[in-house]
Amino acid sequence: MSIPKFPRKAEGLGAPLPGDTPFVRKPKLGTGKGRKREIPEGLWTKCPGCSTMLYDKELDEQLKVCRHCGHHFPITARERINALVETCSFEEMDAGMTSVDALQFTGVSPYPEKLAAYQKSTGLKDAVLTGIGRLGPVRVALGVMDFGFLGGSMGAVVGEKLTRLIEAATERGLLLVIISTSGGARMYEGMFSLMQMAKTSAALAYHARERLPYISVLTHPTTAGVMASYATLGDLILAEPRAMIGFAGPRVIKDTTQAELPPGFQTAEFLQERGLIDAIVPRRQLKERLIQYAGFLLAGRTRLRAAR
Ligand SMILES: [Zn+2]
Repeated sequence: MSIPKFPRKAEGLGAPLPGDTPFVRKPKLGTGKGRKREIPEGLWTKCPGCSTMLYDKELDEQLKVCRHCGHHFPITARERINALVETCSFEEMDAGMTSVDALQFTGVSPYPEKLAAYQKSTGLKDAVLTGIGRLGPVRVALGVMDFGFLGGSMGAVVGEKLTRLIEAATERGLLLVIISTSGGARMYEGMFSLMQMAKTSAALAYHARERLPYISVLTHPTTAGVMASYATLGDLILAEPRAMIGFAGPRVIKDTTQAELPPGFQTAEFLQERGLIDAIVPRRQLKERLIQYAGFLLAGRTRLRAAR
């Protein structure tokens, strides 16, 4: 019995003889019933908390909170304002204010180009929206930051808009609510960014002198210069669940202190246990809870004025 010889590459697989059929036929694209059904983009989002596929429309209705595990997705400043204030009651302040390139900053791209790109992608002029609106029965001065605009960084415009908002609240005797999210001071504006910390804090001191309440709401993430100024000066400091909150990043702290960081470090829950945060409020309960707190704080103020 002779052993059949395997064809060598040159005469076998590599060069099929005329009349031979190839081993594998490529299926034609776009035909056949077995084709995988494609999911149109922008309709579904996978939850990073529980891996469930969430229908975008439903996620919007739930204020970008996963209804299975409670994961809080990023939300824009406009969406937050729409969810909080009564319809048509919000009067925006300083809507057209934009930054100038005082330092002639050129990094990876020049600052004016960066600004223009973010203005186009977010539809905002800078990283905060401010105005006066009605929250249930209470008129409030409301400032909401947007992380989508240059990482919610605080430059001259964020500082100035918030300072004007705080001053308007002081003049009109209004409750102030600032919802923060920020990566810190805006490096493109150097020292001008850092000055905003002092400016906003001073305006808040005048607001406090009138015994007007200020509620600060910290959302994921709130860090650095914003955390070291107006975000932590609230009479009441609230936070969204599992928000990352801190000054410097954990790696920097670990390198500086040369110590192991405790588990859960820099989360809202960790800081609530240690007394920095008064309450953790899920996004979908925020409006109701703000109205409740406002009633309590403003009632206290009325009693104080009566006693004076
Ligand atoms: Zn989830």
